[in-house]
Amino acid sequence: MHAEIVTTGTELLLGEIVDTNAAYIARQLRSIGLNLFYKTTVGDNEERMTAVLQQALQRSDVVIVSGGLGPTVDDVTREAVAAATGRKLVLDETLLAAIERHYARWGRPMSENNRRQAYKPEGALGIENPVGTAPIFALEHEGKLIIVLPGVPREMTYLLDNVVLPYLREKLHLAEVIITRNLRTCAIGESDVDQLIGDLERESNPTVGLAAHPGQTVVRLTAKAQSEAEALHLLDEMEARVRERLGDVIYGVDGDTLEGTVVRLLREKGLTLALVETNTRGRLAHDLTSTPDGLAAVKGTLIASSDDA
Ligand code: ATP
Ligand code: MG
Repeated sequence: MHAEIVTTGTELLLGEIVDTNAAYIARQLRSIGLNLFYKTTVGDNEERMTAVLQQALQRSDVVIVSGGLGPTVDDVTREAVAAATGRKLVLDETLLAAIERHYARWGRPMSENNRRQAYKPEGALGIENPVGTAPIFALEHEGKLIIVLPGVPREMTYLLDNVVLPYLREKLHLAEVIITRNLRTCAIGESDVDQLIGDLERESNPTVGLAAHPGQTVVRLTAKAQSEAEALHLLDEMEARVRERLGDVIYGVDGDTLEGTVVRLLREKGLTLALVETNTRGRLAHDLTSTPDGLAAVKGTLIASSDDA
């Protein structure tokens, strides 16, 4: 059982925007243990999109599409899915009523082309979109499953996390849970980290991998298990082993930042910071004071353009 992501939008092909949707969907599929074999991107062209969808349906069990569900002429995903599966587009009265309610709530008139958004390929399951106007849909076709999400990242991520992932888990009987935890280090190089935990990097569950960023190295732990609790337990055990080796060069976990950790430690110890920096154009002051408690911890900063100044 494996999946393919199809992101749509000419602006993706032109390099005007970065395909963050594909990256997000890929991570979330990994988290439910659904293997991803292909990612494809196609422009807002009905013929080419139809061909891409046909190819995807041939080689993948689950196809997740993002974008092109809007009301405008260049939004052709509905038509392409219908063409790729040889189906008609039919009006879904329930979805239409939901779209009408949206517009009524906003007090805005609904245009004729907004009605287009209530159409779905015949046989598809229409799903309301509580965070936007375009409903999404899921379609089973010749043993394959195609799911279409909006392109707007905020809407896409909400619907993926709250509707699509639970649906896929149940539908495909995906029992496996894959969870990743990032341990963030600083003040030590990637090769030094590698020296200290190289043997752990050869273990298979959790896997341990390194990613180097300027001044920081991330140790990524990924665990696979039959339940979330079990995966978390495996991660806890491996984290303890890594911490034993690396000690206090680990400054944080997952979303923690170095500046956030510095400010938190200052606050915990009741300390404040006076900062003088040169050659950095105020980068330190900016990063530290941009954290939630930053302005309380940093008393004052002086940015000098040279050591002499
Ligand atoms: P709309 O109703 O806004 O037309 P839609 O479902 O038709 O939504 P698109 O028109 O494809 O979606 O995309 C809307 C916007 O969402 C784009 O202008 C872009 O900013 C963003 N977007 C679309 N696809 C992606 C993507 N793959 N990665 C990141 N951002 C995207
Ligand atoms: Mg659009």
